[in-house]
Amino acid sequence: MKDIIIAIDGFSSTGKSTLAKQLAQRLGYTYIDSGAMYRAITLYFMRHDIALNNQEEVLLALDHIELHFDENGICLNKEPVDAAIRTMEVSAKVSEVSALEAVRKFAVAQQQRMGVHKKMVMDGRDIGTIVFPEAELKIYLTADPEVRTQRRYDELKIKSPEISRQEVQANLAHRDHLDSTRAFDPLRKADDARELNNSGLSMQEQLDIAEDWALQLIQQS
Ligand code: C5P
Repeated sequence: MKDIIIAIDGFSSTGKSTLAKQLAQRLGYTYIDSGAMYRAITLYFMRHDIALNNQEEVLLALDHIELHFDENGICLNKEPVDAAIRTMEVSAKVSEVSALEAVRKFAVAQQQRMGVHKKMVMDGRDIGTIVFPEAELKIYLTADPEVRTQRRYDELKIKSPEISRQEVQANLAHRDHLDSTRAFDPLRKADDARELNNSGLSMQEQLDIAEDWALQLIQQS
């Protein structure tokens, strides 16, 4: 049995966190939602009105941020913020914040420390390319744009019934653009990643495929 790192990357609302969470549970691995870290940093920046173009202010703010995960999700300076980071306001800002080099260095260093003992599934945008370029299994998850919009819309309208499909679609398109064109660590498929389009797959089917891939690597002697 071999301990491995599983990196799952892809655009927003491709179902990365659902797959990552379920896969970690099946394998007895730790799951880390790297997007939650960028969202929590964004929440701190919004609460403290940090000017994103002021490098000094950004660095000082990062010095005051401590992130960790507990059984309920992410904590920002010990405050559980898992619900607070999933709002449209944070979603509208997060890709600008996560495009800053200082923010990426801060988050990536922490993510790499979390993975030193392996047995980890981490999802995000740059996990297979920058955070863990040596990850034994890299999955690049894709889904058709209409499927992604519908998934995000269904998820958001539970808490915000006033939300429109167009608003959701516009936010996804905006984030896709920023995430894949930013100067530092843009989203791209690692050369050795396995692509999985889950548009026509049930959660069970995609989990079975990913688990098969993982077990083949774990059981290698
Ligand atoms: O995964 P989620 O959609 O919650 O991520 C929110 C945002 O955080 C993404 O749109 C992206 O801007 C940023 N992100 C990133 N790198 C990661 C994970 C997320 O830049 N590894």
